[in-house]
Amino acid sequence: MAVPKKATSVSRKGKRRAGQHHKLYRKFPFLCTNCGTLTLPHKMCSSCGVYKGNEIVELKAEEDNSEETEA
Ligand SMILES: [Zn+2]
Repeated sequence: MAVPKKATSVSRKGKRRAGQHHKLYRKFPFLCTNCGTLTLPHKMCSSCGVYKGNEIVELKAEEDNSEETEA
């Protein structure tokens, strides 16, 4: 039976399986410049819909709030 010359070490396997966890919970997390919540790099903020200071998506929650204040 063929055996691989270099087996994958426990630490290397653990790093690979950790995946996005290290990006999310790293020492200096990506915070939204608009609302300050935790976001992923190169992604729109999921809570306010802003990316690099530009509003990409108007979220339904904000629209509901504005309607309540008008009424
Ligand atoms: Zn935000």
